[in-house]
Amino acid sequence: MIERNNELAERAAQVKEDLAEAARRVGRLPEDITLVAVSKLHPGSDIRALAQSGQVDYGESYVQEAMGKQEDLADLDLRWHFIGGLQSNKAKFVAGNFALVHSVDSRKLAQALHKKALERGVVQDILLQVSLAGEVQKSGITEEVLPGLADEVMEMDGVRLVGLMTMPPFFDEPELARPVFSRLRQLKDALERQLDTALPHLSMGMTGDFVPAVEEGATLVRIGTRIFGVRPPRV
Ligand SMILES: *Cc1c(COP(=O)(O)O)cnc(C)c1O
Repeated sequence: MIERNNELAERAAQVKEDLAEAARRVGRLPEDITLVAVSKLHPGSDIRALAQSGQVDYGESYVQEAMGKQEDLADLDLRWHFIGGLQSNKAKFVAGNFALVHSVDSRKLAQALHKKALERGVVQDILLQVSLAGEVQKSGITEEVLPGLADEVMEMDGVRLVGLMTMPPFFDEPELARPVFSRLRQLKDALERQLDTALPHLSMGMTGDFVPAVEEGATLVRIGTRIFGVRPPRV
């Protein structure tokens, strides 16, 4: 147990060092970047272990699994991020139960979150997930659809748009993802002008590509494998 605590704390600390180094290289403050530890498919005991080192933010992709962990770990003060594909019929399990939903990719899903949040008397923070590299990505809206969807979302009181998320296809070479990250940043800047609203967040960068993501402006990086190791298969 103690061993696993130390191992996870050590790995997370190394990631944070790399994040800080990438931030400083481009004149950014390390504290402006939040490490979201992606714990999907890893046991709740790993989250409990890592939380001891002060890691607060965790990313989950599957509704049932996430709800189970939230219940088991309710004694801890954690911030949960929903980062996976979400069907609108499951929005009721998510609205109000996650600090941030990174993966909103349709009007229908935004609407479902908005309605549930209103019912619960909360406002759900969301990101719109944008797909920028063509057919390789299965989720996310195209950049052509983004301005219109953003306008619609701004009309929904139950959700608050706080930025954009993207997940590039896997590249062997992290530098190949850089144009995707810089494009997301441009889209965010354009959207801020369009909506006349600050959008503080860019969720981009995973184990293989977080360095260019931070250099291009990521405020949230979603890192799983580098911290927890290889994910067990989903059963
Ligand atoms: C699983 C997942 C991650 C983490 O990926 P790693 O390569 O393990 O760091 C990040 N973002 C999303 C959306 C994911 O589904």
